[in-house]
Amino acid sequence: MVADIVPELLENIQRDFNSKIKKSAKLKAIQKSIENGTATYVQANEYAIEVGSILADVFKTHIKSDVLPDGYMYYNIAERILVPTLTENHVIVTKLSADVQEQLNKSIGLGLKGIEAPVNKHRIESIINRITAEEVFDDVAWILQEPVINFTQTSVDETIKENVSFQGESGLSPKIIRTTDASDACDWCKSMAGIYKYPNVPDDIYKRHDRCRCTVEYDPGDARKQNIWTKEWRE
Ligand SMILES: [Zn+2]
Repeated sequence: MVADIVPELLENIQRDFNSKIKKSAKLKAIQKSIENGTATYVQANEYAIEVGSILADVFKTHIKSDVLPDGYMYYNIAERILVPTLTENHVIVTKLSADVQEQLNKSIGLGLKGIEAPVNKHRIESIINRITAEEVFDDVAWILQEPVINFTQTSVDETIKENVSFQGESGLSPKIIRTTDASDACDWCKSMAGIYKYPNVPDDIYKRHDRCRCTVEYDPGDARKQNIWTKEWRE
């Protein structure tokens, strides 16, 4: 009988993660902006990068070939570690993003709650499949680094997508702005940068490659104009 390593491993990962989250000055500062009603989606993206980096660091510390049976990441281990931890990242970041959305809605006189995007189970599954595809875990350990950060950033993007779709379907014309992290953006990211107005919003603007630090933002637009429109819409 091989002892089940998962309960203790998961507990250590979650304990370490929670303690680092609590200590992060960056996260605290962004939480403060939420309390002050001044948070932006750019900050939500920074928040996601920080939460994703913390989880990636914790994975690096705790998950190595020499703690895994046969040095291999078995599917049932990967599933029981990654589903709860990645889902937690999604929940934390989506909640914050929905708060940002709600404040932006309010800023233009829109009494709509921020909608939280559902967790993308397919993406978690795909990370599990990639991490279990190699015989030696250490050869694929990198998948628990940048792709974890990317997954967490996507929770912000998907929250914007949900809210933009909802508002669009409700008869509003929300705008989305995608901006590159100018310094070393790739050609694809440069081609995706711009301002998009519903319904002309290509699905690709919510996508990002590993190490992509582009920002996607909901644009509250011309507040006055939208205010007038909202009043009509409410009647
Ligand atoms: Zn990019």
